[in-house]
Amino acid sequence: MDYGFVPQRVEEIRARVARACARSGRDPAAVRLVAVTKTATPDVLPALLAAGIRDVAENRWQMARDKLAHPAAPSFEWHFIGTLQTNKVKYVVPRFAWVHSLDRPELARALSEEAVRRGALVNVLVQVNISGETQKHGVAPEEAEDLVRLARDLPGLAVRGLMTMAPMVDEPEDVRYVFTGLRALRDDLKSRLGLEAFDELSMGMSDDFEVAVEEGATMIRIGRRLVNP
Ligand SMILES: *Cc1c(COP(=O)(O)O)cnc(C)c1O
Repeated sequence: MDYGFVPQRVEEIRARVARACARSGRDPAAVRLVAVTKTATPDVLPALLAAGIRDVAENRWQMARDKLAHPAAPSFEWHFIGTLQTNKVKYVVPRFAWVHSLDRPELARALSEEAVRRGALVNVLVQVNISGETQKHGVAPEEAEDLVRLARDLPGLAVRGLMTMAPMVDEPEDVRYVFTGLRALRDDLKSRLGLEAFDELSMGMSDDFEVAVEEGATMIRIGRRLVNP
């Protein structure tokens, strides 16, 4: 696969992020563009590197494996964004700096144990189902606090913020409430629990990232718009 089109895509997305930041009074440097490469082949990695991307995300260990074997893989910080089975934790902890999909206590405990065993630190985001759509993963907003507290108290984990997925809609404006909801929840937990480095909001994908940036996204997870021909 020839990924020569990638740098231009990155430029377009960065320009749109910059405009969304200008509209909302934000600094574009505070928004990480995380490239979601699940459907792409490993040779997407040099193209992403050439385009200045430093963060790559995968939602399944099986898909990540081939890409992690590529010589360019160590140049990136890796993010795990999909449902994570506890039996895959042993593979994920040594390779991924971030797990965006912390959604249950047993996963927090498994990540913590593996991180301690390896002397690693895993940055975790608690995934919250703001929209209430049944097929979306993540905890209900009212359950987030317990999971954040647990992750805060476990060794080997740094709980850094929240993640959400918005429902698929035709009009991105229709999911703005999801992003404002996640931001409000982060602000509330951060102040009530007195968390210091609890600032990340992983929200926004190919079709809705501009609205997410306007509402405070610090990480946008872009797949199709970046790597699909
Ligand atoms: C696939 C995926 C994305 C990227 O979605 P696109 O619509 O392709 O940009 C973001 N987050 C998660 C959790 C995903 O699984």
